[in-house]
Amino acid sequence: MAGAVAPSPLAEPGLWIERVGDKTFPSGCPALFLDRDGTINVDTGYPSNPRQVLLRGEILPVIQAANDAGWPVVIVTNQSGIARGYFGWEAFAAVNGRVLELLREKNCSADLVLACAYHEAGKGALAAGDHPMRKPNPGMLLRAAEILRVDLGGSIMVGDKEADIEAGRRAGLSRLFLVGGMGAMAERAALAEVRANRRP
Ligand SMILES: [Mg+2]
Repeated sequence: MAGAVAPSPLAEPGLWIERVGDKTFPSGCPALFLDRDGTINVDTGYPSNPRQVLLRGEILPVIQAANDAGWPVVIVTNQSGIARGYFGWEAFAAVNGRVLELLREKNCSADLVLACAYHEAGKGALAAGDHPMRKPNPGMLLRAAEILRVDLGGSIMVGDKEADIEAGRRAGLSRLFLVGGMGAMAERAALAEVRANRRP
């Protein structure tokens, strides 16, 4: 709509909640939860430049399968680089926009993005040790489940760090996949799980 100002995805100083697209999902649907850096895109270390974003091809079939199954795809990403003063929410928005754009070019879509900037090394409003939204705490997954009315127990979490897996565990998920090993084994296992649990 011309002239319309999009509402800021910043729900609070250290929490970004962005609904992407307008797909709707039935209540009680499982979701595919994905970490971002190191899982969807190559982790270049606090990425803040959209031109450096490179997707990890291994994850794309998993996202496509979730899209095909009608599951929401939810990105949950710790962004302590903001609390540490390495970059700001504008740079986060640019990088994240690029990630979503590259996914669309591969016919993959994400439906919700949550990012947590809180960290014990932060200053002012972003200073928080063990914040409930920061993985390994489950806050981002729980908030996403409220927004999309997701069945957490039936959902899948994929990440590249133990904190991702632990956040999934604390949110009540049992199917947890740690990527980064040889031969994309975790991605292939996650893909098989999505396909096996697809509704007829
Ligand atoms: Mg990661």
